[in-house]
Amino acid sequence: MTSKTAPALERFFMHVDGKDHEAVEGGWLETKNPYTGKPWARIPRATAADVDLAVRAAHEAFTAGPWSRMSASDRGVLMFRLADLIAANAERLADLEVRDNGKLRVEMLGQMKYLPRWFQYYGGLADKIEGHVTPIDKANMFHYVAYEPLGVVGAITPWNSPLLLTVWKLAPALAAGNTVVVKPSEFASVSMLELAKLFTQAGFPPGVVNVVTGLGQEAGEPLVEHPLVARIAFTGGNAGGRRIYEAAARQFKRVSLELGGKSPNIVFADADIEAAVKGVISGIFAASGQTCMAGSRLLVQASIHDRFLDRLVERMRQARLGDPNDPETDIGPVATEQQLAKVLDYIEIARRDGARCVLGGERSARSGCTQGWFVEPTIFAGVTNGMRIAREEVFGPLLSVLSFETEEEAVALANDTPFGLAAGVWTSDLGRAMTLPKKLKAGTVWVNAYRVVSYLAPFGGFKESGIGRENGQAAIMEYLEPKSVFINAKPAIANPFTLQ
Ligand code: NAD
Repeated sequence: MTSKTAPALERFFMHVDGKDHEAVEGGWLETKNPYTGKPWARIPRATAADVDLAVRAAHEAFTAGPWSRMSASDRGVLMFRLADLIAANAERLADLEVRDNGKLRVEMLGQMKYLPRWFQYYGGLADKIEGHVTPIDKANMFHYVAYEPLGVVGAITPWNSPLLLTVWKLAPALAAGNTVVVKPSEFASVSMLELAKLFTQAGFPPGVVNVVTGLGQEAGEPLVEHPLVARIAFTGGNAGGRRIYEAAARQFKRVSLELGGKSPNIVFADADIEAAVKGVISGIFAASGQTCMAGSRLLVQASIHDRFLDRLVERMRQARLGDPNDPETDIGPVATEQQLAKVLDYIEIARRDGARCVLGGERSARSGCTQGWFVEPTIFAGVTNGMRIAREEVFGPLLSVLSFETEEEAVALANDTPFGLAAGVWTSDLGRAMTLPKKLKAGTVWVNAYRVVSYLAPFGGFKESGIGRENGQAAIMEYLEPKSVFINAKPAIANPFTLQ
């Protein structure tokens, strides 16, 4: 996977202090195209030495560079310019993401066209972060609260929606006045390396946004542990999230963690069945199930269970697997060889645990799907909530179907999971639509919808799905510290040995 000799593939460079940067130790990683299974580019393999250079550049930019003197309004203007540049480059950025993670071009292009909204929204918020004066209960004392940026933010991100999930961190962090070092996934770094160039084009001073590429252990861990990094914003799996949380705790470092899920999609007998079938498909088979919010557990009311399952299987038999760049394709490959092996493993585990495979259940042998990392969309019926495929995140096109009789049972099943990222409810009962969301332990609940996100809507997890929220107005507060300032109009201390 690595080489120290002159690479023959297309090469991309890190971005440190406004300049292209190769790894200090000279290492490279190959990045592969999931549709062909072949390497298509090389990215630098950073180590602690590169992370240190990037963090120091970000720290210098925060403490002494032009960024530190820039008004919040001017920061906002830079972000608006960047938004325009992203819109102008959306096609290229989408192409790079498809090559890196194999998701459908139509999905990645949609994401790229939506990205500018984050910079417009948070760019607009930059100069609306207002402190306030507090009517304090002390004689002759004036008191105000100011909100200050933290310093250097480390953003560590996954491969499934590489830029979207990075921008969820970058936009509020920059609007608040911080500087950032991004460590994208080793499987999908290229779009971030290209986005870094747009920051320079937009006029961001050197050091404000830096990108180091490499492995979690070699580049991610030194970023988390660097004493000049004030906060870590992480999206990824629970194993990495736990290690990062522990490492950050040793320095009392601020963190947000957006982790995995095992989200229930609950279909009641009174639902619009056709809409629910499409909602279930979009929940688990869009993006080959590789979304944190995947509706990987389908809970169907017993009275419609067989009818619903038949319709779902029938609809999924028509799904076209193939080239993610082909607009006719519904399902692309999974993103990595490791993911392919993991999904196939879980299919075996489900069989061993006694679940009944009603669709797929193998690596795809369809024409056009034999070269890359394709798994047939797979549905297991007769799953119980104790089985591993009902409890563990697979992150692939694998749906577990469970059945319930009553609403209470549905809620109990839905909440019986260590995760709490999202949930879907399909019903035509207005009362249920109003009351059920409150009963579900999940950071996002969709009623008669699935997989809807917005820069305006807070996103994050209950329980083991994470800590903190991204998006919406409140997210900017995660990148600020409140400071309480007391000014004494009469500098006289009555008794220096007591609390004043
Ligand atoms: P991952 O945890 O393997 O990697 C994510 C990032 O963390 C990568 O950049 C990786 O190099 C880095 N990393 C890994 N271990 C690290 C460590 N010890 N210290 C520092 N950095 C480390 O996750 P992945 O396989 O890239 O992504 C899939 C996971 O991400 C799934 O579990 C999915 O649910 C989750 N995810 C969550 C959300 C959300 O918003 N909740 C969104 C997308 C993906």
